[in-house]
Amino acid sequence: MSESRPSPWCGRGDKPREFAKHQPIICYDKPAAAVVSKDEYDDKRYQALTGELVETLVVPKREARTWTMQTGDLCRITVHEGAQVGDVNLWNLENRQERFYSGKTRQLHAAHLQVYDRLWSCLPYLRPMATFVFDTLAKYGIDEDGGALHDVIGTRCDDYTYKLITGQERVGSCHSSLVKAVAEERGMTEQDVHDVWNIFMCTGFTKDTQQYFCKPSPAQKGDFIEFIADMNLLVALSACPQGDVSMPVGAAVPDEKCHPLKVEVFRRK
Ligand SMILES: [Zn+2]
Repeated sequence: MSESRPSPWCGRGDKPREFAKHQPIICYDKPAAAVVSKDEYDDKRYQALTGELVETLVVPKREARTWTMQTGDLCRITVHEGAQVGDVNLWNLENRQERFYSGKTRQLHAAHLQVYDRLWSCLPYLRPMATFVFDTLAKYGIDEDGGALHDVIGTRCDDYTYKLITGQERVGSCHSSLVKAVAEERGMTEQDVHDVWNIFMCTGFTKDTQQYFCKPSPAQKGDFIEFIADMNLLVALSACPQGDVSMPVGAAVPDEKCHPLKVEVFRRK
């Protein structure tokens, strides 16, 4: 082997390997099914909001609840008492094998969803389950650290990771709350709970080390989001025991940092 030829091994004295520079390529550049007609969805929103209020429920702080929606129904989730983040799961009401796929939703849209983005189902279905239609926090945008709201980065807080960090046993996470709600209200199991849509939560990845970070939720009393069901849905929502997420995972979360979330479902007449 010639001495000048770079070694595949990164041993002492080797020349540093150089890589060709390329511009980023957007991998999934807005397939037609991921781009909705804003007029169509604004009209669906108007029809639903001027129709009937068919469901109102409150998800108590540190708990989870479930509800159903018909195709075309609009769901509004409101931070009606104080800053609070929520973790959402979705299933096809008639086939619970078809459920929300946060990873592919992230690739088709972005790590943080914006109004008119859609929530997609798992393989082999890969269909829009719902479309995000309104957000009172839309102006937050992407902050100076790359933080933004409503991520589909994935997972949900859980007691297994809590034990990994603290060494302590605990039952009190979005995962355990969602498991309890789907078991008690729908006869489902822990295996049915999946990666979530993290509403009202401000998250990102640090620019230097690409580590996951969060910031306290900027949501205030009265803020809300809305989405429209693109199929008949079973929905579960956890009012996260991390509350407004102003404490790191592992630290005790004071009760005053946790709030309930209000759910309303509207249906066109
Ligand atoms: Zn949580």
